[in-house]
Amino acid sequence: MDDTTALLEQATVLLAAVAGRPVAGVTDEQLCSLIVAAEEAGRFVDAVRVVTAAEVDERSRFALGKDGLSYRLGHRRAGELVEQLTRVSAATAADRIRVGTAIRAEVTFDGQVLPARHRFVGDAVVTGSLGMDAARAIFQNLDVAAKHSLLPEQFDPTEAYLVGIGQVRSADLVAVEARVMRAVLDPDGAPQRDEDLRERRRFTLGRESHGMTTFSGACDPVSAGLLRAAFAESLAPDATPRFMTDEDRATAVAAEVKDARTNEQRHHDVLFGLITAGVRAGATPGTPRSTASVNVVVRLSDLQTGRGVGWIDDIDEPISVATVQELICDAGMRRALVGDNDQPLALGELERYFTTHQRRALGIRDGGCVWPHCTAPPSWCHAHHVLEWEHGGQTDINNGVLLCPAHHHMLHASPFTMRIHQGRPQLLAPPWIDPAQNWNTIGRARTTEPRVPSMA
Ligand SMILES: [Zn+2]
Ligand SMILES: [Zn+2]
Repeated sequence: MDDTTALLEQATVLLAAVAGRPVAGVTDEQLCSLIVAAEEAGRFVDAVRVVTAAEVDERSRFALGKDGLSYRLGHRRAGELVEQLTRVSAATAADRIRVGTAIRAEVTFDGQVLPARHRFVGDAVVTGSLGMDAARAIFQNLDVAAKHSLLPEQFDPTEAYLVGIGQVRSADLVAVEARVMRAVLDPDGAPQRDEDLRERRRFTLGRESHGMTTFSGACDPVSAGLLRAAFAESLAPDATPRFMTDEDRATAVAAEVKDARTNEQRHHDVLFGLITAGVRAGATPGTPRSTASVNVVVRLSDLQTGRGVGWIDDIDEPISVATVQELICDAGMRRALVGDNDQPLALGELERYFTTHQRRALGIRDGGCVWPHCTAPPSWCHAHHVLEWEHGGQTDINNGVLLCPAHHHMLHASPFTMRIHQGRPQLLAPPWIDPAQNWNTIGRARTTEPRVPSMA
């Protein structure tokens, strides 16, 4: 074992002795000293972390091909190897490589050692006087400025100046100062910054955890504007014209039903409504076609008893049979005959599926999600079987109604009841919401002649 590892193990033994000690009994002064000392120890540990991660990355560089370290150990990228060895998240592994690379000395092809790209930050990091947050803020802002700055001779003094601040002030203040210095170093960079921002656009679909898959990303100002406009338009009260019939006005009870969704949930629903609409658009001849579809596997016996779970392709978390029924209600199903060893023997035809034409007819009749106050347009909507298919409901427009995914789920999961009466969908609220138990006609029919409201 080499010296460095042995030394680190000694330090770990000492840290382990400290970590188990209770702090409840220490004085305030001792507590504050302890926090300062722990942070200093942490900065040294961080320094070792980023330096080693960057070295793994260097030894796994693309040019080495199959001789690269991470490749030899069965990983496509250095980050994956770091992740496996350290058990940190992919994002943390990537971050450590980034910081470590920014402060490592560069070696040219002929073996010449050049100073690190950010040697002042590097010196401060390895001597334990600069934390990771401050280091990141400094070199990232300087890197942005360096892309077009005409003042290269100013960079070293500026980096040294910012490191000095980072050794006494909090990382957030360093970040503010670093942005100020970026503007000083690169006064004409604003137009280019637009391009840079565009280059940094990204969308990351994360891993599944506890049944939820996270996503994150960042968009440039123009895309952000588009997204905000889509949210604002879809979420504004009465976002689309709603032609109310006399009957609608007389049955205002249905409109009293509150939307229980939070704003965050509504934003989510708008985003996925737009994605659904985009995928569906492929069904129209002549438009770019998306082949995206979602497969769920469920046992027929579970489906019939309404108990058990189904499995979505590519997703580890099972979903309830109730949710599977909801998906089948909109999209249909295909029976598969499975042998004793679970091997599929035969695959049936797609059953129960509203055609594009039927959906369009529903769109004309319903004008979008029929749920009171909902403004989701037809393209976002599921076509729900009013009489559920498991109860013999047919797939025709007299048994279909448009509901956005959120309200489709609400209808399946709640005691609201729906029917089609004289060609229009009607909703019956549970007795505790509507004690009078009136059937309320719903939907935003485009076929009803609009009238200018008369003055009362
Ligand atoms: Zn349904
Ligand atoms: Zn809706």
